[in-house]
Amino acid sequence: MSAEAPAPPDAPAAPPTHAAATALAATKIYGSGDTEVRALDAIDVEFRKGQFTAIMGPSGSGKSTLMHCMAGLDRVTDGKVFIGDTDMSELSERDLTLLRRDSVGFVFQAFNLIPTLTAHENIMLPMDLAGRQGDGDWIDEVIGATGLADRLTHRPSELSGGQQQRVAVARALAGKPQVIFADEPTGNVDLNTGAEILGFMRNAVEKMGQTIVMVTHDAVAAAYADRAVFLVDGKIVDEFDGPTPETIRTHMNELGA
Ligand code: ADP
Repeated sequence: MSAEAPAPPDAPAAPPTHAAATALAATKIYGSGDTEVRALDAIDVEFRKGQFTAIMGPSGSGKSTLMHCMAGLDRVTDGKVFIGDTDMSELSERDLTLLRRDSVGFVFQAFNLIPTLTAHENIMLPMDLAGRQGDGDWIDEVIGATGLADRLTHRPSELSGGQQQRVAVARALAGKPQVIFADEPTGNVDLNTGAEILGFMRNAVEKMGQTIVMVTHDAVAAAYADRAVFLVDGKIVDEFDGPTPETIRTHMNELGA
């Protein structure tokens, strides 16, 4: 329970229609009493459809917590979080799992591919688990965009790190989720490979209209995004469009990050 005053009656209760994911006064508190940590402090943020957003901030600022709460992997203590116009705080565990499965794509730092499955089987896995066939033309387009058409029968161990992460991005794209959340997707690869993966994600936004939200601490990676959002101590302290590595570094220095 929050000790905060109730929201004023004119506070927005519904997400804007142009948003793929929205947080309204999202608060996440871990622990209680002396050990209480306010990981998210009444955050308002929207991730526009078809936009690529980078979430930045120092270690411990709440980036992972925000991503997990907005992706339906964790629940906020207070406030509301929406995927599209679905209020996740109203959903049962089962409905939350279904929403995540059908509407959210994930890309992780460690790729998280299934080692015993081929690249193609990995890409199809979320739809197979959901018992969905998917849109064949779309899946062909996604696979074409990976540039891995001749490697689809390979297992992850037979692919480079960059190729594995492109398979992981294709897996996230294949089911046409409303939003993809990527957690340090280039944290495990070298610079050139990182550029290749970020270029693929950028392409998915520009050419396929995908919405991507990426947590990163890397100014070069964040510069692939349309917008950078900065967190400090669980609050959004800054955000701007069209980030470049230089403008991001300047903002980070100003924030003491
Ligand atoms: P970031 O991703 O920016 O490094 P996190 O979202 O991981 O930040 O953490 C935000 C704050 O919440 C930190 O103070 C962290 O120690 C705390 N925190 C995160 N997860 C937990 C947890 N499961 N239990 C207690 N505190 C947590």
